[in-house]
Amino acid sequence: MATHIKFGRLFTGLKTTADKDQTVVIDGDKFAYVGPSAQAPKPATADQTIDRSRMIGIPGMVDVHVHLTYGNAMCEEDIDLYAPIEFRALRGLINAQRLLAAGYTAMADPGGSNRVPLSIRNAINAGLFPGPRISCSGPYITSRQGLTDWYPTWFGAPKTSIGHLVTSMDEAIEEIRTQVKDGVDYIKIAMDGIQRHPNGDLLAAFNQDEITRMTEEAHRLGKKVITHARGRESTLYSARAGVDLIFHASWMDDECLDAMLENKCAIGPTLTLINHAITFLQPSDPGYGKERYALAMREWGPACQGLPKAHKAGVPFMTGTDSGFSGTPYGEWHAKEMEIFVKFLGFTPGEALRSGTVVSAGFLTGGDKLGAFEKGRFADFIVFDGDPLADIAQLLDKTRIKEVWQGGAPIALKLPTMKREGVSDFSYKMWNDMYSQARVAELAETKRIRRVAAE
Ligand SMILES: [Zn+2]
Repeated sequence: MATHIKFGRLFTGLKTTADKDQTVVIDGDKFAYVGPSAQAPKPATADQTIDRSRMIGIPGMVDVHVHLTYGNAMCEEDIDLYAPIEFRALRGLINAQRLLAAGYTAMADPGGSNRVPLSIRNAINAGLFPGPRISCSGPYITSRQGLTDWYPTWFGAPKTSIGHLVTSMDEAIEEIRTQVKDGVDYIKIAMDGIQRHPNGDLLAAFNQDEITRMTEEAHRLGKKVITHARGRESTLYSARAGVDLIFHASWMDDECLDAMLENKCAIGPTLTLINHAITFLQPSDPGYGKERYALAMREWGPACQGLPKAHKAGVPFMTGTDSGFSGTPYGEWHAKEMEIFVKFLGFTPGEALRSGTVVSAGFLTGGDKLGAFEKGRFADFIVFDGDPLADIAQLLDKTRIKEVWQGGAPIALKLPTMKREGVSDFSYKMWNDMYSQARVAELAETKRIRRVAAE
């Protein structure tokens, strides 16, 4: 029995525009026909026919930057320390389902603690639970200058951390081989963190020889490589090493661009998190007015200068949100990245939607069978009420997503409401200020100090 669905408009993902009066025929879990309704095969008696002629069909969307183990964390300690690994797996599974419910039928998890993302991926693939199609790495490989080595040197990177700290190339190669043995889809390397040169530029966590060696080893073992690289130096080293996907590239210049074009690197700018750090942080948030906030402010301008050039030059752009932080909760803001591409990076809505579907799918394992309406690809798509090609921000409106289909069947998910305090509030941080007598006197003037009732 096949399913015939008639759409008013269809955005196949294979070009930047939509076509009118299209029909898709689904046989099993894949498309058997995609094309004009007038030429569509006639349904057999046993076939199901569905009329969605008031709707537009859009391929299932893809977020290449979701961290399932973070748990909508409020700080790095939440991410690394405050939930048992087993709990993170259960929490990560339901958060993965939130993506699926939001029309994201596939995603990449580039960095999580231990083997949690792998286990979530395997459980979904085994049919134990519904969820998006997941490709994932193991923990980030990092150095003393890289992301995830947050803690004092005498503490190191704990076993539950999202990063694996290496102190030599032998250790790095050993970690790559171990992760490949355990079944990762790709290797994630932290190419910078927060340490800087005296001139203010971010320091690369590994030198050129080191990132080239790690990339060669991952490629030799048949795995792609993603780097976290915000600064110019780390972006340049990543591009020269020929890594497959560079996250951020905020301070890229022409030299970086040439190396990216030569080595066919893609970019995942992940501007959603930076945008939210700038626009969402409240004065009452601990991060407000601090270094991380200042970094976001400092990064936004250069990113919006360098990245449009890369897009114009033909570098593939993939959509990611760094979901898993309190500022980017799961299932909420994934489509924001496409809106940012249009508003700030010079994309047309059609180009952004291709980035958020078929282009990003290209990075995933088996991605050539995902991300587009095309005969032979998996029937993963959404039925959408609106016109995202006129206003890309409509994709953030979940009431417009009428149906989510995955593998040729509609998905019906009933997701529980989270009890916030049980999910991510594990750190013991209590104070945002230092309450000296002088500070208390100052606050008393503005009436911000409450009295105990009995006083
Ligand atoms: Zn990330």
